[in-house]
Amino acid sequence: MAEVHGFQTEVTKLLGLLAKSLYSNKEVFLRELVSNASDAIDKLRFVSITKPELAQDDPVFAIRVRADAEAGTLTISDNGIGMTLAEANEHLGTIAKSGTEEFMKKLSGEEQKDSQLIGQFGVGFYSSFIVADKVTVVSRAAGARPEEAVRWESEGAGTYTSENVTREERGTEITLHLKGEDKDFLTAWRLREAITKYSDHISTPVWLWEEKTPESEEKDGEKKPAVWEWVQVNDARALWTLPPKDVTDEQYKEFYKHLTHDYEDPLCWAHNRVEGEMEYTSLLYAPSTAPWDLYTRDKQHGLKLFVQRVFIMDDAEQFLPNYLRFVRGLVDTADLPLNVSRELLQESRITQKLKKALTKRTLDMFEKLSKDTEKYALFWKQFGNVLKEGPVEDWSNREAVMKLLRFASTKSGTAEENVSLADYVARMPEKQKPIYYLTASSYDAAASSPYLETFRKKGVEVLLMTQRIDEWMMQSLTEFDGHEFVPVTANDLKLGDLADKEEEEKREASAKESQGLVERMKKALGERVTDVRVTARLVDSPSCIVGRQDQMMTAQMRRMLEAAGQTVPEEKFVLEINPQHPLLVKAAAETDDARFAKWSDFILEQAMLADQGALKDPGAFVKLMNETARELGMEAT
Ligand code: ADP
Ligand code: MG
Repeated sequence: MAEVHGFQTEVTKLLGLLAKSLYSNKEVFLRELVSNASDAIDKLRFVSITKPELAQDDPVFAIRVRADAEAGTLTISDNGIGMTLAEANEHLGTIAKSGTEEFMKKLSGEEQKDSQLIGQFGVGFYSSFIVADKVTVVSRAAGARPEEAVRWESEGAGTYTSENVTREERGTEITLHLKGEDKDFLTAWRLREAITKYSDHISTPVWLWEEKTPESEEKDGEKKPAVWEWVQVNDARALWTLPPKDVTDEQYKEFYKHLTHDYEDPLCWAHNRVEGEMEYTSLLYAPSTAPWDLYTRDKQHGLKLFVQRVFIMDDAEQFLPNYLRFVRGLVDTADLPLNVSRELLQESRITQKLKKALTKRTLDMFEKLSKDTEKYALFWKQFGNVLKEGPVEDWSNREAVMKLLRFASTKSGTAEENVSLADYVARMPEKQKPIYYLTASSYDAAASSPYLETFRKKGVEVLLMTQRIDEWMMQSLTEFDGHEFVPVTANDLKLGDLADKEEEEKREASAKESQGLVERMKKALGERVTDVRVTARLVDSPSCIVGRQDQMMTAQMRRMLEAAGQTVPEEKFVLEINPQHPLLVKAAAETDDARFAKWSDFILEQAMLADQGALKDPGAFVKLMNETARELGMEAT
């Protein structure tokens, strides 16, 4: 008796969405089913390395596609690893991939968006229901007895049935009962077209049941009976084994989709074959869109591993560093044993060598991509923040990764427009030595920062770093191309040759003149500051704070730590003042000590606000601000 089961809720939801969102691209179901058949054969090929008896009964691997016009069915079968009853229930009734829930939460009613998400996710087997109103799966696992086979059936509406049946052949047969409007998938040319498009490059032959073209239409005035035969329709040579010059862009793109279940074209790829000391072939791709779970800690990633064309494992994360976890593709090597396990892989010196080589290949691929400004902008938007983990994680490639970095700058005008470090250095004024940068919580906050004033005036470009990760990354970057990185907020900011002599003298004179003011302010602010001094970096603003005791801890960093629930010790700063500013002129003229203390307070607090984007007691500051405004005769009423 067949048991009735309910689909996992997510599956039902997905099934509902599928027909709608993939309507214009129905034939993808063939890719998915042929791809599953090919995966099943790859798995058996792998297992039979150690257990050859599993494949012996039917040793020639094949995928067969057969249409039955009369019955209105299309059958895709393979002699791969097959499924037991329990496996069928598990794999064809649920979505086994991790993070399904988050994915489902993202699914909205908007068809366009959903179809993109579905593309990223890969719907696999369930795509059968795009064209079928009933799907029957009969399967026998390799090594199982004939009566341990399974029959699974569903109309794609909430439930499926499954039961044990008897099947002589090993492997899986999937029969689609096609919907009325999808009967064109019963014609051989339509199938042939779709199979060659999607499956030319998979390494197992795909056979199509076709009517033989008769030599002559009639014989002795009688119509010859139709003769049918199996015809191999794909090339069945693994794409990566072909010389790159023989592979078209279209083929690379299709292969990518087969490999990754992504419905979008890849952004770029690199195909390399290496012989000599090491022997491997790699085919690496960058997707067009970052996967939605790129930052999920336990996300599976990595390359497909083949050993001498035999598929060994998915998601072999050992071949690329973590900051390149978005790269997809495969590596096929002759240097690892066929029975290599994940553990062995981890320890192998060959893995280390391959990782080094593949990392370099990947970075080269991006370097090449960067020549295409438009494409690189897309790439940077999707993956820039992940790449920034590179200089920290991968010391040996930091130079190469740094070349790939892009930042907004005071010369760019918008948050999106950005500059490479090489271009920054190339357009530095001759007198400039360091690379100046500012970290802030947003582009707007950075662009209007008082710390930039003197740089603006001198026409010196400053990199504006506004991503959370920037701060962390900059802690481990010291220089690029011989130019030191210097934050414009540095305590002892030295402008070096950029400072012109006259200015320097003026500042010194002003510092001397303001000695009294500085001393008074130090006294008024007491413990709240470590020092007060005359600034070299302000032009229009009255004051700024610099010089944390802990140089590493910038405002951004503090906020992150505080948000993470850590107690961060009270900070003290150096207050820099601009004595030319009217506010300071006013303060200097103040004879009443209590009122002078208020001025000092106001000058310090607003510098804190500009630096940190927040204050401990905003209410008190607003009050203080209104009081000082009144003092300055600026109150509106
Ligand atoms: P994916 O292929 O990404 O795992 P699918 O939805 O395409 O997802 O398939 C779900 C699972 O069903 C597969 O992982 C596999 O375990 C099983 N399966 C599907 N088709 C076959 C097949 N032809 N032979 C054996 N197992 C299969
Ligand atoms: Mg699949």
